[in-house]
Amino acid sequence: MRGLMMDKPLLISSLIQHAEDYHGATEIVSRTVEGPIHTYTYAEAAKRARQLVNALVSLGVRPGDRIGTLAWNGYRHFETYYAVSGMGAVCHTINPRLFPPQISYIINHAEDTYLFVDLTFIPLLEGIRESLAKVKGVVVLTDRDHMPPSKLPNLLCYEDLVHGHSDRYEWPEFDEWTASSLCYTSGTTGNPKGVLYCHRSTVLHSFSISMPDALSLSSRDTVMPVVPMFHVNAWGLPYAAPMTGAKLVFPGAKMDGASLYELMELGGVTVSAGVPTIWAGLIRHMQDNGKRFSTLNRTIVGGSAAPRAMIETFQDEFGVELVHAWGMTETSPIGAVSRLMPRMDGLSDDEKMVVRAKQGRPIYGVRMTIADDEGKPLPRDGVAFGHLKVSGPWVCAQYYNEPPGPAHDDEGWFSTGDVATIDADGYMQITDRSKDVIKSGGEWISSIELENTAVAHPDVIEAAAIGIAHPKWDERPLLVVVRRPESGLDREALLAFFEGRIAKWWLPDDVVFVDELPHTATGKLLKTKLREQFRDYRFP
Ligand code: ADP
Repeated sequence: MRGLMMDKPLLISSLIQHAEDYHGATEIVSRTVEGPIHTYTYAEAAKRARQLVNALVSLGVRPGDRIGTLAWNGYRHFETYYAVSGMGAVCHTINPRLFPPQISYIINHAEDTYLFVDLTFIPLLEGIRESLAKVKGVVVLTDRDHMPPSKLPNLLCYEDLVHGHSDRYEWPEFDEWTASSLCYTSGTTGNPKGVLYCHRSTVLHSFSISMPDALSLSSRDTVMPVVPMFHVNAWGLPYAAPMTGAKLVFPGAKMDGASLYELMELGGVTVSAGVPTIWAGLIRHMQDNGKRFSTLNRTIVGGSAAPRAMIETFQDEFGVELVHAWGMTETSPIGAVSRLMPRMDGLSDDEKMVVRAKQGRPIYGVRMTIADDEGKPLPRDGVAFGHLKVSGPWVCAQYYNEPPGPAHDDEGWFSTGDVATIDADGYMQITDRSKDVIKSGGEWISSIELENTAVAHPDVIEAAAIGIAHPKWDERPLLVVVRRPESGLDREALLAFFEGRIAKWWLPDDVVFVDELPHTATGKLLKTKLREQFRDYRFP
C-alpha cells in the first residue's frame, strides 16, 4: 500500500528558499579576494541566486550542463552553488591546488561549459586554456572595477551578469535524483574520479549532519567552513547552514592563523570546520600572541586524523570542543562523528580522550563494516582491523563516466580504501589507508598510529611513517619527521618517547629528520611521493 503523503522532491533550491523565507535577516559574512569584508543576508543571497539563474539561462546554460568553479569560500561562490544546482544544472567545484594538467583533465572530463573563477585563478586558467575543449566562457567572480586585463576568450564579469537580470524566477520542481554537483577525488593514484551528487543525497546529508549528535547545527550557530567549497562542498556546510538557519562566515583565500582568528572574532563564529593542518596554524598564532576565542565553542576536524594532542590543546587551553569526524569525497563527505555516548560521562578524561580521538560512530543513514582481504566480515571488538566498507543514501554508487570498478561490490558496499577497527559501541577508528599500511611479518602496523604518537612529542611538527622493504619482515616502519628547528630532538630521544605508547614490535626501525614533508592538494601527507623519495633507503 502506498502512503498518502505529498510528492515533494528533496531539492537544493528548497534550502535557500527556506533560508530566505524564515531566516531572511541572518547574515553571510565573507572575506573577499578583493580585500574588504562583505556582509549581507540570506534574503539577499537568494535574490541574487535567482538573478544568476536568469543570467545563466541567457548564456544558454541548460539543465544537466556542468558549470565549473575555481573559487574560494565566499558569497559569490555560494550564490553560484544555488543558482546552478537550483536550475537543474551541475555545479562542478574544482580544486585549484591540483596540478594544472589534472585540472584540465577534470574540466574536460566533466565537459564544463562555463567556469566561474575567482581573480586568484585567472593566471592558472590562462596557462591551461589551450587544452580546454568545451569551455564557452569564463565568469570572473568580481565587479567591473576589478576585472583583470586577461586575454582569456569570452571573459565575463559576475556582477555585471547578475545586475543585468531580474530576480523573478520560480525554482523549478524536478526529480530529486537529478545530479546537482560534481567533485573529483584528488587522485593520489591514477586520474581523478568524479563523484556526482544528487539533490536527494545532498538534502538528506544536510539533515543528518545537522543533528545534535552529529555537528549539532542550529540557528543559534555561526558556522565558518574553513574547509574549501571545492573540497567536497565544504563538507556540506553551505547546504546545512541555510537548512538550519545558521549564520555563515566565509574565510576567502586567507587561511593563515591570524586571518582566521580575526574573522572568527569579527563574525562571532561558534563552530568551524577544517583539516588538522589549518588548526595547527591557528593554534600557533593563538599561543604566540596570547589570544582567546570569545565565541568559538567547537570545531569540526576531519580529512586526516585529528591528533589527540590537538584535541587536548583545544579543550584545555581554549575551552573549545574538537569534534572529530570522518568522511571522503565519495561519502558527501560525512560518514562518522566521534561524540561521547551518555553512559561515558563518568569516564576519566583520559578514557574520554581515547574515544574522542577515534573517527566516530556512523551518523544516521550510513552503515559500516570491516572485512579481511578475502571479504570476510571481521568482529566489532575494537581490535581486529580490516578494509572499511560503507553504504548509505549519500554514498557514491558509481564514478562519473567511468566503468564500474572494484570499489563497489555486489552486496552494495563501497570500499573506502581505509583500514579500520570498529568497537562494540560502533566507534570506528582508522588505522591506515589500505595502501599505506605497513606489513611486517604478516601483521599490519598502523602508520597513522605511529604518526600520531610522534606528533604528541612537543618537538615534532609533523611525522610520516612508511614501510621500507626488509629482508626478514617484508616491511618495517621508517619514521620521517619534521622537528622544531630550535629543538635538539634526536633519533634516540624520539624512539624512547614511543616506549610504552605502542606495541614494541611497532617501534620504527629508524628515524630520518627532514625540513618538510610532501602533501597532496588537500593538505594530506603524500605517501606515494615519500615512498619514492625513500625507495633506495636501507635500514642501518
Ligand atoms: P582524497 O581521497 O581525494 O584525498 P577525501 O577528502 O575524499 O580526499 O579523502 C578521504 C580520506 O581521508 C578518507 O578515506 C580517509 O583516509 C581520510 N580521512 C578523512 N577523515 C579522516 C579522519 N578523521 N581521520 C583519518 N583519516 C581521515
